[in-house]
Amino acid sequence: MREFGPHRKVIHPEHPFWLMQKDEVWEIDRPELVAQTSWGDARPTSLLEHNIQGGFPEPIYESFRKYPEFAMSVANMLLHSHFPATLHSDILRASGIASDLPGIEPLGVREELPEYVTYRRLKREEGFRNAVLAAYDNQCAVCEFSVKLDGYPLALEAAHIKWHGAKGPAETRNGLSLCALHHRLFDKGVFTLLPDELKIIVDEAVSSGDPGFHDSLGKFHEKPLHFIPHKFEERPSPEFIKWHVKQVFKSPNQIPDTF
Ligand SMILES: [Zn+2]
Repeated sequence: MREFGPHRKVIHPEHPFWLMQKDEVWEIDRPELVAQTSWGDARPTSLLEHNIQGGFPEPIYESFRKYPEFAMSVANMLLHSHFPATLHSDILRASGIASDLPGIEPLGVREELPEYVTYRRLKREEGFRNAVLAAYDNQCAVCEFSVKLDGYPLALEAAHIKWHGAKGPAETRNGLSLCALHHRLFDKGVFTLLPDELKIIVDEAVSSGDPGFHDSLGKFHEKPLHFIPHKFEERPSPEFIKWHVKQVFKSPNQIPDTF
C-alpha cells in the first residue's frame, strides 16, 4: 500500500484485511476475538495480539490451486482495472503472486492484454496513443527523447495522467508523451507536474547526488515541460494533474495550494 497506493499519512492495511470478508472472497479465523472500533473496523493491535490469519475460502483456494491460470487471470483483471501497465510487473513481484509465472514483460515491452479486454478498448487505446504522441511531436515531454525506426517512434508511450483504472479518459488532455523511463517514473509518482504552469516537480525524497539521477531526472526539477502541445485543448488538463499530485505523487506536500 505504501509503495503502490496513493499517498497517505497513515496507511491502514487492516481495512482490506477485515472488510474483504463482506465480499465473501476472504475469511478470517476467529473473527469473534477481534476488537472493533465504533465504525466496525478491526483494531490492528487486536489482530496482532491474537495472531489472526486471513485467507481465501476453501472453494476459491482450491480453484486457484488447481487452475493457476485462473488465479493469474483474476490478478490480471485486478491489475488492469486499477493500475497502469507500467506498474504491473512490479506489483506482481512485490506481492509475490507471480514471480515465476511467464508473461511478465520487461520495461518498455507492450504487454499482452488479457482476453476480457475488448477489441473496442484496444482500438481506443491505440487512438489515444497516436493522438498523444502526435500532439507532442513524437518526443518525450520531459527529456526530448525521440528515436524512430522506419518512421515509427520507439520506446515512446502515451501515459495517462489520471489512470485508466481510476476512470481517466483516453483523451489527449489526459495524456503525456513520455519515454519508457519517464513513463514508469511518472506512474510510480516519482515526479509530477504543477497543474497550471506545467512545471516538472521531482519528489525530494528521491533526490541524490548521483550523476545518473541528475542527468535522467534531477535536472528537470522545476523546469517546464520540454514540449507543450500547440493546441490549447490538447494540453494536460489541471483537473487530471491534480488527481496525479494527490493520488500518485509520493510527496504531495511539496505542492501546497494545489487543492
Ligand atoms: Zn524521457
